[in-house]
Amino acid sequence: MRFADFDLDGIEMSFATCIARLEASVADVPPGWHSIYLDCVQDLRGVENAERALVEVGVPTVHRGRLLIEQLPTAHSQPDAVVQGILRKLAARSVCTCQLCGKPGWLRSGQSHPGTYCADCWTPRALRSEISDWLDRMNQEKEFKAAHPVVLWDALGVGFKAVVPDDALHTLQAAGRTLLCITAERFLQLREQLKLLKATVDEQVALLDASEYRWHH
Ligand SMILES: [Zn+2]
Repeated sequence: MRFADFDLDGIEMSFATCIARLEASVADVPPGWHSIYLDCVQDLRGVENAERALVEVGVPTVHRGRLLIEQLPTAHSQPDAVVQGILRKLAARSVCTCQLCGKPGWLRSGQSHPGTYCADCWTPRALRSEISDWLDRMNQEKEFKAAHPVVLWDALGVGFKAVVPDDALHTLQAAGRTLLCITAERFLQLREQLKLLKATVDEQVALLDASEYRWHH
């Protein structure tokens, strides 16, 4: 029989073996989630018994900012409510725990780094993506002026606001409200400053990325 003739799906693993495999897989889990992951493995270990000998669970995966382990359907085991409860708890804890540092975090959507992060781990990434976005638009000066005769202060992120000097701000009356804004002309003059800020933020993000490069999904 050639190797390819084996039906790997038919090979069953015991619950204990699956748990041992999870224990050995901790390095595959983003660092901020290690603690909740190990709690989960310990809980699984705690409910291991003869009745569950044939329950199979998979390896950890990251999906849309959640850390997931699934009970695998097998011919000899039914969905186990206790095991599934433990696995659901892990997923629920992961969506409110920063995957990088373990502090309270929440799901962030972003162009390049969707995931669950705390403010400290997310802010440099959000700022970088905001600066890149504006710099791209500013490349076409004429189009930029046409599209943004003024840039509204409220439309800028916190980190971005820091590079706008006070004397660049004007007020604008709109629908009975006074809004702060920057003219397109003045905004375009901030380009070199933005490039410098971007270089700094790029470095920060590169450091963060280096610690989690394997978990980009
Ligand atoms: Zn964090």
